[in-house]
Amino acid sequence: MLIVMHHAASDADIARVNKTIKSMGLNPVSIPGAERTAIGVIGNKGWVDDSALKGDRAILEIIHVTKPYKLVSRDFHPSDTVVKLRGGKKIGGKAGFLVIAGPCAIEGRDQIFRTAEFLVKIGVPVLRAGAYKPRTSPHSFQGLREEGLKILADARKETGILTVTEVMSPEHVAVVAEHVDILQIGARNMQNYDLLTEVGKARKPVVLKRGLSATVEEWLASAEYILLGGNADVILCERGIRTFETATRNTADLAVIPLVREISHLPVIFDPSHATGKRSLVPAMALASVVAGAHGVMLEAHPNPEQALSDGPQSLHFVELEKLRKKLSGLELFMKKGLR
Ligand code: PEP
Ligand code: MN
Repeated sequence: MLIVMHHAASDADIARVNKTIKSMGLNPVSIPGAERTAIGVIGNKGWVDDSALKGDRAILEIIHVTKPYKLVSRDFHPSDTVVKLRGGKKIGGKAGFLVIAGPCAIEGRDQIFRTAEFLVKIGVPVLRAGAYKPRTSPHSFQGLREEGLKILADARKETGILTVTEVMSPEHVAVVAEHVDILQIGARNMQNYDLLTEVGKARKPVVLKRGLSATVEEWLASAEYILLGGNADVILCERGIRTFETATRNTADLAVIPLVREISHLPVIFDPSHATGKRSLVPAMALASVVAGAHGVMLEAHPNPEQALSDGPQSLHFVELEKLRKKLSGLELFMKKGLR
């Protein structure tokens, strides 16, 4: 439920309405606006009987929200969320376009250190690399797990680079959060509600990938679990969806980027690697996401993609990443000056 207060409502009026909401066993969330204040109501499992509020003269309108998410919607939070990362970096709102790059999986110390050092050299601030890998086949490489986390933590310490890695089960959230700057929920786990609840308790930003066949509504409802748990630092990530088309690994649904920006205040990024599955398509799609309004990209790059233990065909060579990095910066500047 959303309560829109009259333009002239005083602090005392707002306090009275908040008290009534609490007496109904619900929680008020204040939504200050330039014109008037609104109060979001959370804590209800179904329809709310609003008769206790109906007669209040300071209330302009009572809107019953029927969507499965509230906290992630612009109705409840009109301004863009800007997620603060370690070292003063930010993502969301008008903060600059954020590039996250690195191998699909952590394969060893040399591979991760070479990648981290290269990223620092070309000005990519965040290293992605998986320690726990959700592989379709149990015969495929499953990741170095704890050993991988340690390698990533060492590279972070030595080079200062920010890091993001996937967490696959609720029991691992605490240990993964200790080792990296940003937690990642993979597409296959987007609807693992115990995991979402657990990262909701973590004090680290979370990249939430869209599920393979998830609707935007389901995706945002999953983000709602994390916000409801107390963690407001969620970054949505479109990574392509399952369709009838098999020419690309997934179908890049770039239209959801401006769509999600309309209906949610959360930052949204794009993963052109998993969306296409093909290295040659990655630069064009990464650039397209800037125009679509993405707040950043997360893409795969590897010192030797031909030898990669996972997702080599969609991983950029370092020289390709360096070229793309420059083009992304140029396009970002053009968009800022020319079109927005
Ligand atoms: C990944 O980023 O390495 C990954 C497994 O992606 P997704 O969950 O989108 O398939
Ligand atoms: Mn991958």
